[in-house]
Amino acid sequence: MAFEGLLGQARVTAQLTAEMAAGKLAHAYLFCGPEGVGRATAALELFLALNCQGAADGGGLFGGAAQEDRPHPCRHCPACQRAQAWRHEELLLLQPPGEAASSQIKVEDVREAMAAMRFAPLGGATRMLLIRQAQQMNATAANALLKTLEEPPPRNIIVLTVGDPRELLPTIVSRCRKVNFAPLTEETIRQALLARGLDQAQASLRAAMGGGSLGRALCLDHEEQQRLLGRLRQALARPADALDDWALAEELVGQFRGAERIDRQGLADALDLLALDLRDQAVGALGKPELRLLPGPAAAPAATPPALVAAFGRLRQAQQEILANASPELAVTVMLQEMRALAAGRAFD
Ligand SMILES: [Zn+2]
Repeated sequence: MAFEGLLGQARVTAQLTAEMAAGKLAHAYLFCGPEGVGRATAALELFLALNCQGAADGGGLFGGAAQEDRPHPCRHCPACQRAQAWRHEELLLLQPPGEAASSQIKVEDVREAMAAMRFAPLGGATRMLLIRQAQQMNATAANALLKTLEEPPPRNIIVLTVGDPRELLPTIVSRCRKVNFAPLTEETIRQALLARGLDQAQASLRAAMGGGSLGRALCLDHEEQQRLLGRLRQALARPADALDDWALAEELVGQFRGAERIDRQGLADALDLLALDLRDQAVGALGKPELRLLPGPAAAPAATPPALVAAFGRLRQAQQEILANASPELAVTVMLQEMRALAAGRAFD
């Protein structure tokens, strides 16, 4: 089946399958959506569907029932195997060389790919140029792409992935057909993690923390999480001290500060750990400890369930402030102080 490697993106699968079946694929696509939800996988699946040679051997070139019954792409023919290892000669990949927010796709690499696309693909293949994190092209690199993007040579498809199309030049966006990828559901991520051999507790925890991204759920570092949670629990248990709170906030924010910008989403996601802890404390206080999500020893409920719910709300507020460009150190510091007051049963405003 086409797109069976793509997880939980039914609308995307339906759209691309229908366009392919109708012979109406665009020559340039913009795959929009958060990191780790399957944009590159969808591109690979599209490439497989276009280039699988499995139907040609055995079943007869011109179809017939036997060929119709065979799954397509087959995932076993030489073309499928090379593509799945990202080693197919007509599958071109451009991406920033590093993880840092400042890491740019080089204009020379874009020019080289444009030059390669002037030659017809080999052996009747359809070539794909996949540009991941396309927002990491500067204006020069983007302009080097423009002409080819408008009208790629026959049997070439260009796919760009981006979080938010507003990060790209409008001239790029207007030349592409948009495909929107939704965040994955917690249950989809949990099942995928179980299929990768994680145990129930880790799969549930990471799914809850993944923020709709399987990629992020896979990257979560268990020990780092435990250490961070320990620090936050300690901070909330000690008497109020604005300087200590600020120091912890600075340390926490520092882990998400890149050369040029702060990874606000990453910081907000990290605070989800504390949200899960509050939730676990609340179900513990309500006599339902089996509903806990966090592994490891449970924190004794530090407050009554209503106070825990209020603290949970305060945490969500801090996460929104962080995403909305507030000073993250200030947002974390004030959150710690107000959560402590809530736990102690004091109003803070
Ligand atoms: Zn194949």
